[in-house]
Amino acid sequence: MKLLKKLLKNKTVLITAGPTREPIDAVRFLSNRSSGKMGYALAKVAKENKARVILISGPVSLPAPKGVRLISVETAGQMLKAIINSIKKADLLMMAAAVSDFTPRRLIKTKIKRSHSLLLLKLKPTPDILKAINRKRVKHKKGLIKVGFAAETSSLLLRAYQKLKEKELDVMVANDISRRDIGFDSDYNQVCILRRDKPIIKTKILPKEEIARQIFVSIIS
Ligand code: C5P
Repeated sequence: MKLLKKLLKNKTVLITAGPTREPIDAVRFLSNRSSGKMGYALAKVAKENKARVILISGPVSLPAPKGVRLISVETAGQMLKAIINSIKKADLLMMAAAVSDFTPRRLIKTKIKRSHSLLLLKLKPTPDILKAINRKRVKHKKGLIKVGFAAETSSLLLRAYQKLKEKELDVMVANDISRRDIGFDSDYNQVCILRRDKPIIKTKILPKEEIARQIFVSIIS
């Protein structure tokens, strides 16, 4: 598709993918069911269309697409640092990672013993990566295009619109994760693509690579 090459050729695309892992103790962590498939599909499509791709990925069991620069991270804090280190070069930022919203307040270095009858785990919020990037201290290109992903189980569009504004995004991809046939871990997805002052695009149920193409097209159409 010529349109995609026009958007992506020789551009630097920074993509986050997969879950993050927040350590609780020496062996346990807090994470989520993200497989990374959507982010890896975006990376593959961007590479096929001649972009330079930096893929910042949480722990997943997928091979990185050929020619993509892979930076592996575990925690939300590490993901933020990796993005800050690469964001200066980026023309597009696609935040497809399911970043943990909370992390244990204290890391216990040993393994917590089973002896507790009730174990209370105190959590604190992780840094909001997209909000951090909007701050002046984080240098990035003026025309940086930012795409976010909202996985919701209720009030999908309302929440996605709120996040589009709050996180100062150009595009928000809303994903209904209450459905079992699409979304998390599936090879297929169906999303609503929200943009500022433009009509919503609702895709059909399609392979994630095709969804990735439609997301890129939505940026220029
Ligand atoms: O978790 P939430 O629904 O708010 O995620 C919406 C968008 O914000 C996603 O693109 C996600 O990658 C990003 N996010 C972030 N920093 C966080 C949590 C989420 O940038 N701490």
